[in-house]
Amino acid sequence: MNIAIVSIFPEMFEAISRYGVSGRAISRNEVNVRCFNPRDYTEDRHRTVDERPYGGGPGMVMMPEPLEKALAGATDWLDSFTQRQGERRAIKVVYLSPQGEKLKQQKVNEWADCGSDFVFIAGRYEGIDERFVELFVDCEISIGDYVLSGGELAVMVVIDAIVRLLPGVLGDENSAREDSFMQGLLDCPHYTRPTDYRGRGVPKVLLSGDHAKIAQWRFEQAVERTRRRRPDLLVKKSETGGEGWDERLAQYMRGLKIK
Ligand code: SAM
Repeated sequence: MNIAIVSIFPEMFEAISRYGVSGRAISRNEVNVRCFNPRDYTEDRHRTVDERPYGGGPGMVMMPEPLEKALAGATDWLDSFTQRQGERRAIKVVYLSPQGEKLKQQKVNEWADCGSDFVFIAGRYEGIDERFVELFVDCEISIGDYVLSGGELAVMVVIDAIVRLLPGVLGDENSAREDSFMQGLLDCPHYTRPTDYRGRGVPKVLLSGDHAKIAQWRFEQAVERTRRRRPDLLVKKSETGGEGWDERLAQYMRGLKIK
């Protein structure tokens, strides 16, 4: 996968390109990431990317032209992969915005698997000129119902969530499969050494070596946690179905006398 980012703060992306799972994936070229700064596409001495809003009011708005040029730089770069690899790859242009569709694991899974490349646009100030959004953006994504001062952190959230699902990126593919939301449930609790920590032990079953019993315990814990903390996920799962655990989940819920 190839990912271009349009942002006036490219240095911020060191947080994902130098550290952890995403940093490793980038250094091994499992994913290529590059930033395009709208300021590099301006012609005035101050490298201006923002202006006062028409109609007055507080704050500044990002102007469409530097964004359009940065986007053209980004798509040219992405097209260069197409030329090298000989297969035409679709490009999705995503603007991170508090007004977008709220990001869910299902969307992350879909994008990790879709075979497209991405351009993520990070806004600043009051946001970006609406005409740029209308003309060039395929999809607006929000990372939650709150307002950040810029889209960079939101872009990093989305990239991190996608990259960890790309084939080969996590050491053990199963670790993502069993994560919260992947099967419509929260994850079970986890324990590691020592066996006694401040007088608290580890559930005996986890020390038993009986893998079938451990799997059943983990499943029940995941359902119980979800029931207590996020019952909405169970309701949704019973309505829409989902991969893997459905028959087991249905049986378990019947045992608990939950429809
Ligand atoms: N005036 C805008 C509004 O109220 O909808 C908020 C602009 S915000 C201060 C600046 C930039 O931060 C936005 O253009 C967007 O890129 C990013 N941003 C802020 N909150 C976000 C969120 N919850 N999800 C994704 N991006 C967000």
